[in-house]
Amino acid sequence: MDLKTVVRTIPDYPKAGIMFRDITTLLGDARAFRQAVDELVQPFAGQKIDKVAGIEARGFILGGACAHQLSAGFVPLRKKGKLPHKTIAVEYALEYGTDAMEMHEDACLAGERVLLIDDLIATGGTAEAAIKLLRQGGAVVEGACFVIDLPELGGAARLKAMGVPVSSLIAFEGH
Ligand code: AMP
Repeated sequence: MDLKTVVRTIPDYPKAGIMFRDITTLLGDARAFRQAVDELVQPFAGQKIDKVAGIEARGFILGGACAHQLSAGFVPLRKKGKLPHKTIAVEYALEYGTDAMEMHEDACLAGERVLLIDDLIATGGTAEAAIKLLRQGGAVVEGACFVIDLPELGGAARLKAMGVPVSSLIAFEGH
């Protein structure tokens, strides 16, 4: 199946000029959801991935399924103030102002092989923060995988420059 056909596009959401790529239609289609998870994990089968890290919130859905498929643990990377135990944090720039992403300080053991998962990479700012956080926590980031890439925004190139292999299943032009 061409996964592009099950991603719903909502123009001008959340604001004018943005084409919002909605994956709830993909998640709701049993065959498409299975295919996406299979394709995300396929390059890492047999690679001894210890943990999958997912970015709140859509990265939790895909990341949880990928972790199960790889028999790996799951690490939630969350917005500030959501995790109950001791955390480490990384600040990152948004279009207006900054935000922080947090992870439990003991979520990863030193040297653990971790795969990062999110639904979509645009500028790469969110994923870059996640990689910094995982590395700060002692993890080795073996790859960053996305269902959707928006190549014009340069995110994949940004992560590759950090030494992280990047893969995505489909791409859309524009923002
Ligand atoms: P960025 O940090 O610019 O790579 O943005 C990535 C994050 O923003 C991901 O968590 C995406 O879910 C979300 N995002 C950015 N652009 C879009 C878009 N056009 N459609 C849906 N989600 C988006």
